[in-house]
Amino acid sequence: MEKIVAYCGITCSDCPTFIATKMNDNAERKRVAELWTKQYGHPFKPEDINCNGCLTKGTGVFNYATICEIRKCGQERNVKNCAYCDDYKCEKISKLHEQAPKAKETLDQTRRNIGRETKH
Ligand code: SF4
Ligand code: SF4
Repeated sequence: MEKIVAYCGITCSDCPTFIATKMNDNAERKRVAELWTKQYGHPFKPEDINCNGCLTKGTGVFNYATICEIRKCGQERNVKNCAYCDDYKCEKISKLHEQAPKAKETLDQTRRNIGRETKH
């Protein structure tokens, strides 16, 4: 599967919700809903486990994505992801990266690949 990276650097194509959606696999949706309910203490239903990836415009994304400030900002600025933004790293992305070091590494690596310095 092609690697799809969200605005924040999370790899959508590794996410079980994205995979269950692409495979249209209801048993997997049920499994992920139960797992995430336990993990995050929020009652997820199998029908919540639907997402075409954070870069999808409009709906067709996981519920949280519709309120995510980073996604909203990336769309408004029309950047491929936050690594391509002149204000990387802003406060919003720095805060999320404290909880998501893998996403941070993905975007930092992208910055190096595209030859852009990073403000810390
Ligand atoms: S919705 Fe927000 S936190 Fe979730 S993958 Fe997209 S940018 Fe990252
Ligand atoms: S300002 Fe921050 S959240 Fe918005 S696109 Fe730039 S780096 Fe991402």
